[in-house]
Amino acid sequence: KQPFLQRAIRVLSPRLANQIAAGEVVERPASVVKELLENSLDAGAKRIQVDVEQGGVKRLLVRDDGHGIRQDELALALSRHATSKIYDLDELEGVASLGFRGEALASVSSVSRLTLSSRHIDAADGWQARTDGRDMVPVVSPAAHPVGTSVEVCDLFFNTPARRKFLKTEKTEFGHLEETFKRVALSQWERFLSLKHNGKTIHSLTACHSQAEQEKRIAQLCSADFIQQSVFLDVTHLGMTLRGWMGLPTFNRRQADLQYFFVNGRPVRDRVVSHAVKQAYRDVLFHGRHPAFVLYFELDPQGVDVNVHPTKHEVRFRDSRTVHDFLFRSLHRALAEVTPEAQKVANV
Ligand code: ADP
Ligand code: MG
Repeated sequence: KQPFLQRAIRVLSPRLANQIAAGEVVERPASVVKELLENSLDAGAKRIQVDVEQGGVKRLLVRDDGHGIRQDELALALSRHATSKIYDLDELEGVASLGFRGEALASVSSVSRLTLSSRHIDAADGWQARTDGRDMVPVVSPAAHPVGTSVEVCDLFFNTPARRKFLKTEKTEFGHLEETFKRVALSQWERFLSLKHNGKTIHSLTACHSQAEQEKRIAQLCSADFIQQSVFLDVTHLGMTLRGWMGLPTFNRRQADLQYFFVNGRPVRDRVVSHAVKQAYRDVLFHGRHPAFVLYFELDPQGVDVNVHPTKHEVRFRDSRTVHDFLFRSLHRALAEVTPEAQKVANV
């Protein structure tokens, strides 16, 4: 190889550019499922089936009954920076869809063997586009499919051995994937959702139309104990709403493994949120124990920037101080109402 100084500049091939982008978004089967589920949700699907084999590494299928994709747009859907969700900066700033970067399908298809099958709601028949992870030119052909879309991803990372090496055991990969499924199931009450692993049904969830039905779903996904030992809160202040279930101090955990926080429907990990929750539980939990919660925070989309990281797990609040105070106060008050003074532990 020549020294860098002597090498000519070239534009990356589309496949390599996509594989580099995939490095940011596609870490493991769970990240593929996250992207595919978000696409199904954005397409208005009522029923979404996830069917995986060998932790999702061998094969992973997400099938929905959303609006589908037109035949002449199938190949475009697989190319990079192609999206139907935003067309300009104004739309980005008020973005309400889960996706908008136009990168997921391109990224996934560059590191797997992918088949995108769909029938658009206005079309008489279905079509599919296949890529084999070699070049980025999909082969489009007719395919039987009801209205909606299926994405099948086989042999993830078969052409990127360095990434494949980082995959863990089937059990671990499936664990991550199930966690992703849960986050969606906990925020998309009206949808039928199912998850199958190696032919076995792991979760099968019907639509929830009431708080009681939501609690049943949470019991199924998280544990019946959590729902029994939690308080429900629903607080609105200054256009912000916090709703959900917070575990009683007595239902504390050794690990922070039952903590779900959604901002405008998106599962989020955020320092401002974590700090507010921690503060609220500070006086009622022993040091080193973690609270459990399933909480939904709604605010004006203009008040939060979701375009911080490609996986969109992080957000930035415009007015983080107000958000922090609102969260802390709402949680603290709800806890104070259910925690007799005597039960409070000293802050050690
Ligand atoms: P993004 O979601 O950021 O737009 P993707 O690469 O995930 O980018 O998808 C590209 C486009 O393909 C989407 O904008 C959408 O128009 C279309 N698409 C992908 N998945 C589906 C689906 N399940 N149903 C309908 N359209 C879809
Ligand atoms: Mg997407």
